[in-house]
Formats: sequence, structure tokens, C-alpha cells
Amino acid sequence: MFSDLHKMPPPYRIKVVEPIPFLSAEERRRALAEAGYNPFNLRADQITIDLLSDSGTGATSAAQEAAAALGDESYAGARSWFRFHDEVGDLTGYRHILPVHQGRAGERILFTSLLKPGQICVSNTHFDTTHANVELAGAHALDLPCPEAADLDSTEPFKGNIDLDALERLLAGPEGHRVGLVLMTITNNGLGAQPVSMANLAATRELCRRHRVPFFLDAARFAENAWLVSQREPAYRDWTPRQIATRAFELADGCVVSLKKDGLSAIGGFIGLRDDDLRAMCEANLIATEGFSTYGGLAGHDLERLAQGLREVVDPAYLQSRAESTAGLARMINEAGVDTVQPPGVHALYLNAGRLLPHLSPHEFPGHSLVCQLYLDGGIRCAELGSLYLGTMDDQHRLVTPAPFELVRLAIPRRVYTDAHLEYVASVLAHIAKEPGRVRGHRIVSSPKLLRHFKVRLEPTPARAVRR
Ligand SMILES: *Cc1c(COP(=O)(O)O)cnc(C)c1O
Repeated sequence: MFSDLHKMPPPYRIKVVEPIPFLSAEERRRALAEAGYNPFNLRADQITIDLLSDSGTGATSAAQEAAAALGDESYAGARSWFRFHDEVGDLTGYRHILPVHQGRAGERILFTSLLKPGQICVSNTHFDTTHANVELAGAHALDLPCPEAADLDSTEPFKGNIDLDALERLLAGPEGHRVGLVLMTITNNGLGAQPVSMANLAATRELCRRHRVPFFLDAARFAENAWLVSQREPAYRDWTPRQIATRAFELADGCVVSLKKDGLSAIGGFIGLRDDDLRAMCEANLIATEGFSTYGGLAGHDLERLAQGLREVVDPAYLQSRAESTAGLARMINEAGVDTVQPPGVHALYLNAGRLLPHLSPHEFPGHSLVCQLYLDGGIRCAELGSLYLGTMDDQHRLVTPAPFELVRLAIPRRVYTDAHLEYVASVLAHIAKEPGRVRGHRIVSSPKLLRHFKVRLEPTPARAVRR
């Protein structure tokens, strides 16, 4: 790489900037109360550092914007479509590429074509919309993460892997005939941004082949997974991230990809396929619901930005600098006394809020309470991945079954924040960690039945005497 002695700086400099707001503590207190203590209800102009999502939030390059100006908006057969098609085809090796406006549209089209009601879709961990689209197709979503994933502190290199023994038992067992698809999420976003090894992908492919089950990738972060493979899997040390990504796509029968992450663009996605019949089914659905098969709900200028973004995202210097930046934030946070899911991934860090706030029971939502404190103290927005999001509630919105862990996700947008911004985030967390007892719990005031975390409203529970 660039140098073993230095931290890799970002391989770009900043040409266009956007101001960020700094509110007073009183303004933040009022904003959060008006938002019903749910950061999804905050306005972007009330937020200093936005770590809610790495999806569609990245910065584009001068080359992407120059390409966008060349966007061909012809209804069918646009030049921009062919540029996108060739770039994706070259990267993935799939014969058929179907564009979609974002990942979940691809999921809906693929699953309604591929899965039959009553079938099982197996994954290392389904992403939330992926899970929902499997179930909407009438099938059942089953997660089989590897056992190491349950130990948040373990530094095993590939905690995103699927549990191969459990998968083989399922495929060879009485329910085996019901498995309609094995879908590997790279990286495993639902489980701490952990990567999947190439050995795990290859072994899964072999099991799927033996049992005649289609094997697909949910490859939103294919480049970041490839980077972590190049760093952690000795057999791939001398491969470029792009070669590793291409090999991963080659191991699967097809893929569904949200390009709002590693496409380095605000919108986009695609389905990659080898099978001609499946392509025909998906294409009919695509044209009926997304758009003609040479734009799929995207504008020509989007297709241009994406084609260029897919080149830039596999640049080893970019991936090294991004991974080091995230790891550096993890180090600062850990030194301040806040544990994160280990080892650090690339697109996000997951704070162990349950451990930081032992005075709050899961019924008071420690993860969500830390999310609120990060906003109150620093104008930082992020999201809970704990009992508020994943727990089960009774009719009075009381927690019945807590989530296994109380986590908070800090998602890092691509090419947006400098290390100075991340140092600021770490210092706000360090301030909270000095006196965690002052973080107040929360209870639900009102909540929708479906997709609770987006629209739920809460209030703080009464403050307690601080224990020393
Ligand atoms: C974001 C994401 C999706 C859904 O994609 P959208 O573009 O948000 O619709 C699916 N799977 C994974 C792993 C994701 O991260």
C-alpha cells in the first residue's frame, strides 16, 4: 500500500463544501422534544453530524458530476444505460443486468419471481427490508449467522459468515426441500458490519450446488467486504479489491445490490442474473413496476454517476483510508471507555450501550437513550439497534422480549466527514462516558404497529439520583 509508516490520507481533496449547523444546547433540547425523542423526526438542519445512515449520503466526485452532465435521458437504449451495463457486467460477470432505483425494489422483483409461498430464504442475516420483502413474497426468512457473531468482543476476522454446519443440517434435513434461496449479505450489516470470508462463500456455494438451491449475494457493500478480505484472509492478500469482488460475484448465481452504498451515489441498484428464464420473469416485473429495462427507475445522469462510482469505490487507497478512518474512530471511542462490536468494520461502528448504561434496564431502552444523549450533547444523529428496534412489545407498548444486545450504530457516510469530525464525535462520547449515570431512560408514548422505529414517539423517564 501507500506506506506502512503512515495512516493513509483520503486520496482526494475537497472542492465543494456544504455548511453544517451548530445549535445551542437549549435549541437541541427543544428540537428533540418536538421530535418525540425520535431522531428520524429531526430536520437535517437541526443536526451537526449525521451518522444515521451510510445509504445515499456519500459525496460524489468531480468525475462523477462531469459524467452526469453527459447523461443521456433517452427512454430506451440510452448511452448512459450501456455505460452502466458494461461497467456492472465487467465487475460482476453476470450475463443479465436489470437496473432498479434502489436495493429494495430489486429485492421485491427478485423474490416475487424466485420464491414460492411457504419456501424458506436462508441468510447469514437478512437486512430489514430484505426480510420484509421475503415475507411479502409469502416465504419465510431464516438467519443462520456463525456462532462467533454472538460474542461482541471477539476479534475473529469473519464474524459475518453463515453457519455452514447449520446450513448443511437444514438442507439435508426434513425441511431441506423448502429452501428456495440462500442469500449472503456482504458485509453483514445486520450483525455489526462484519465481513464474510471467500472460504465461507465458496463452501456455501458448494452446499447450494449439491442441494440444487440458488445462491445469491445481497452485495450492498461488496467493495468494503473485498477490502476486509484482502486484509484478513491470507489467500487473498495479493488480490486487488476489485478482483476479490469479481470472484465473490462469480461464486454466486446472481445478486441484488443497493448502489446507495458502494455505488457512491444517492440512488440506484441492480439485479444480476445468469438464468435466462429468471431474467425474463424479473424483466416483466421490472417494466411493469420500475421502468423500462434500460433505466429501471433511474435517470441517465444517475446511471452515469453510478458507472463512474463503481470504478472509484474499488480504489485500494480509498478503501484503505476509509477503513483506517473508521478503525481510528473505534480506537478513540474504546479509549474513552465505550466498547464497540469487535473487530471494527468499515461502514459503521456499533456501540455497546447496554454495557455503558447498566443503570438502564432494556425496558428503558439504553441504546435509544444513548442515541438521544448524543444528540443533546453534540447534535449527533445515529440509530438504535436494540430493544426499541428489535424487541417485541405488548399492546401498551411495553417491552415483552428484549433484543439480545442494546447497540447504537454510528454509520459513516462515504467521503463526507474528515477525521476532525470523527474526533468531535469521539469527544462527545467520552464526555458521556465520564458520567453515564446522567443518561435518562425512555418510554414509548405512541407507536405504529409496523416498522416501529421510524415513527415511534417517546419521552424520558424521570431522572434518578446519580450513583457514585
Ligand atoms: C441498504 C440495504 C438494502 C436495501 O437497499 P435500499 O437501496 O436502501 O433499498 C438491502 N440490503 C442491504 C445489506 C443494505 O444495506
